[in-house]
Amino acid sequence: MQTLISADQIAEKINVIGEQISHDYEGTDLLLICVLKGSFIFTADLMRAITIPHTVEFLKASSYGSSTVSSGEVDIQDFTLNVSDRAVLVVEDIVDTGLTLQYIMKHLSNQKPASLRLCSLLDKSASRQVDIPLDYCGFSIPDAFVVGYGLDVDEKYRHLPFIGIVD
Ligand code: 5GP
Repeated sequence: MQTLISADQIAEKINVIGEQISHDYEGTDLLLICVLKGSFIFTADLMRAITIPHTVEFLKASSYGSSTVSSGEVDIQDFTLNVSDRAVLVVEDIVDTGLTLQYIMKHLSNQKPASLRLCSLLDKSASRQVDIPLDYCGFSIPDAFVVGYGLDVDEKYRHLPFIGIVD
């Protein structure tokens, strides 16, 4: 396993993003939406770096295709929450082709939230197929399949405290 981003680098970046979000959303009804499964660890750490009151909900999105290639066909499971008039911030682990996020953002925007933005820990822009604005982004990474800090391959490696590339 090759380390791409260390645990210390992740922690430092999350403090910066948390401070920025706390500043930008002061006085709003902030709702974080954690996209499962990959962003559960990032969301948990980000919440503790945000110093203003906020709430969290979880959305499980399955994209069809193999474990390493996104097909763009997305299924959002059991998401009954109404986000109308909320300041919604979607928290994602990685934006790769952008197809999953495009679907999720469209689904949420149909409910007319007060605002809708995206925070992703990782940006793999080399494989982007659709334009997805990243309002908050941790790290731009090369076009490699990464694991750790919530990200898996066949459900393995999510527990690693760093982001790595499997040999
Ligand atoms: P999309 O291609 O639709 O932007 O990415 C969809 C999902 O594919 C991401 O949310 C993530 O779960 C998964 N994915 C994309 N690139 C990687 C990667 O490098 N490593 C891992 N573990 N998952 C990835």
